Amino acid sequence: MTRTVYVNGDYVAEDQATVSVFDRGFLMADGVYEVVSVLGGKLIDFDGHMVRLKRSLSELAITNPLEDAAYLDAHRKLIAENGITDGMIYLQVTRGNPGDRDFAYPPADTVPTVVMFTQSKPGLADAPAAKTGWKVISVEDLRWGRRDIKTVQLLYPSMAKMEAKARGADDAWMVEDGRVTEGTSNNAYIVKNGTIITRELSHDILHGITRAAVLRFAAEAQMKVEERSFTIAEAQEADEAFVTSASAFVMPVVQIDGATVGDGSVGPVAARLREIYLEETMKTAI
Ligand code: PMP
Repeated sequence: MTRTVYVNGDYVAEDQATVSVFDRGFLMADGVYEVVSVLGGKLIDFDGHMVRLKRSLSELAITNPLEDAAYLDAHRKLIAENGITDGMIYLQVTRGNPGDRDFAYPPADTVPTVVMFTQSKPGLADAPAAKTGWKVISVEDLRWGRRDIKTVQLLYPSMAKMEAKARGADDAWMVEDGRVTEGTSNNAYIVKNGTIITRELSHDILHGITRAAVLRFAAEAQMKVEERSFTIAEAQEADEAFVTSASAFVMPVVQIDGATVGDGSVGPVAARLREIYLEETMKTAI
């Protein structure tokens, strides 16, 4: 099926959509993105993603080209046009097309490029992997130092994902100075003696929208949360491990670098958090 995608205010067939070869997103990965999940035709955590989008743009001095209402309208139009029940909406905003290539930023009045497209994933919330858990490997974190900005420069996470696949795993946890930063496209957690442990917020990791929600729900459910980094060895000795992201929600991790976590099955904390997250976020889905 040919999707309808959004490009700079227009809704066009995907094979008719174009962006300039001089677009800074293409030439320099000079752009940011967001991924919002759709469940039952509704947007999950939409406001949180908009807040982070504006922060990412602001950190890079890219002018936010649209009002929140316009982003929401475009998300909803794409859901309707493409008949999305469950899936994701990808939104990318780049510094735009200055008409030539130069390292210096173009004048501030250069119009940013806005592209949005859908991915249909029927049954997204019932992913079979949530019942069995992921295997992860560890790799050195070789990304740049501003991982809190959600840029489209995803080559290293992509390489790490390929290495995970080549080694028969589902994902990679990245490690810097001996401590886990995050997964290729998710935040990483362990559970020890009932305490949920996840790296504190800084420039070292993306400030996950799902992370924020899950930690809030965990606190509301009287679960103990410790925001600090941990090593792979500590994770391998943990009772449970899991990751969170907008599209995987809460995904258990049952193996780390070949070592079984806990008894190798999905732990009660991860299972419960997944349940709470899906239940609670559906209440605020729009
Ligand atoms: N870390 C990284 C590196 C990511 O790419 C993502 C997914 N966007 C996350 C964490 C999770 O963030 P969120 O919960 O907002 O999807």
